[in-house]
Formats: sequence, structure tokens, C-alpha cells
Amino acid sequence: MDASPVITIDGPAASGKSSVARLVARRLGYTYVNTGNMYRAMTWAVQNAGIDVSDSDAVRHQAGAVHLESPVVEGQTLVRVNGRVLTAEDLNADSVNRAVSFVARVPEVRDLLVAAQRDLTKLGPLVMEGRDIGSVVFPESAFKFYIDASEEVRSARRQAQGHADQVAERDRMDSTRKTSPLVVPDGAVTIDNSHITLDQAVDQVIAVLAEMGVASAVQ
Ligand code: C5P
Repeated sequence: MDASPVITIDGPAASGKSSVARLVARRLGYTYVNTGNMYRAMTWAVQNAGIDVSDSDAVRHQAGAVHLESPVVEGQTLVRVNGRVLTAEDLNADSVNRAVSFVARVPEVRDLLVAAQRDLTKLGPLVMEGRDIGSVVFPESAFKFYIDASEEVRSARRQAQGHADQVAERDRMDSTRKTSPLVVPDGAVTIDNSHITLDQAVDQVIAVLAEMGVASAVQ
């Protein structure tokens, strides 16, 4: 039997990919995985241990001791770190926003989290979003999307969510790091959602998938 399908959705910070991915997963009846939250959880744990995130050796050492789990609640994975389920407030704290790209650039952190992400296929069909899902985590997927939006639109969205986030600086670090930088994966369909609604972006993804024979569970 073929492995369960994984629909990969990559894109820069605040491009709207999380909202698109969550709704696509709901329409398909697939489990939604936000891998940004896994990097954020690792960052939270490393900071909680008093580690300076600019010290890659210390981050690498601490990351190996973090016990990260992904329980599924209402069709999406949450992140549990050393037994504690992290809240949206924990994951989106200003300190995490500032530090996450430093933690995410450490190759050993990426190895740990990529292995955990691949392991999630045991849950069944997935919609997984992040920065390297179509390029590195599941390069063989037949269903790859890249969700983009202009920098102005992305900064405005973050501010509207109440996050004091340096989106441009995070993108710069994510796109220029040595290991698994943000790229448009080979074979990905790009959707620029700067000037379309969330529903229109979701409809576009569903339409592409329908042409490829992936049927929605919910109409
Ligand atoms: O998606 P989100 O903006 O919450 O991701 C937070 C950070 O986690 C990104 O800026 C990036 O540094 C890192 N990340 C990553 N690879 C992924 C998902 C997120 O490096 N697959």
C-alpha cells in the first residue's frame, strides 16, 4: 500500500500559510501539522533552560535533552515539551519570536525535528506547513504548495495579530541559513495571497488538489 499522502505548504513568515493549511486540512479531513510550532517549542524549552540562543553549541547540547511530543487534538497536532502542552501565548511570546530563527539554524535541531515530522505520517494523511517541508522533509510529495505575500502585507498581518515581530529579519535569517534555507520547493505550486481572501487561497489549493485526484471530505 502507498504511504499516506502529505500535502506540503511552505512560505515566509506571516504569509498566511498557517491559516490556509489549517483550512485545507479541515476540508480534506487530514491532520494539520504546524512545524513552526515545533521550532518555537524547542526555542521555548532552550530559553527556559537559561541557554543563550546565539550559542549554537549550547543549543545543540540542550536540544538533545528536550522531550517533544505532538498529541493530536481536534484534527491538529499540538506541541508538548517535557510533559507540558504549550499554549499559543507560550509559542508566540516576543522572546520566542526573536530567538526562533537562531535555534532553527542549528543543524542538529533540524535533524531532530525533521525526524519527528517524518514520524508523524503514522497519524495518516497530513497537511504539513513550514519552511522546508516540500524541499527537505517530504521532497517526494506530489502535492507541494508555496504560499507567498508581499512584505508589506505580511508585516501588517503580524501587527494586526498583536505580535511585535521582526518578520523581515526572520525571513532574512531563514532564507540565508546554511541548512535547509527557505526556498520554493521543486514542483511547488505558488499562490500569492497578498490580494486575495483566505477562502480564495484555500479554494485555489483545493482546486489544484482536485485536479490531481485528491478529494475533499467536506464540500
Ligand atoms: O511558521 P512560523 O513563522 O511560526 O515559524 C517560526 C520559525 O521557525 C521560522 O521563522 C523558522 O526560523 C523556523 N522554521 C523552520 N522550518 C520549518 C518551520 C519553521 O526553520 N519547517
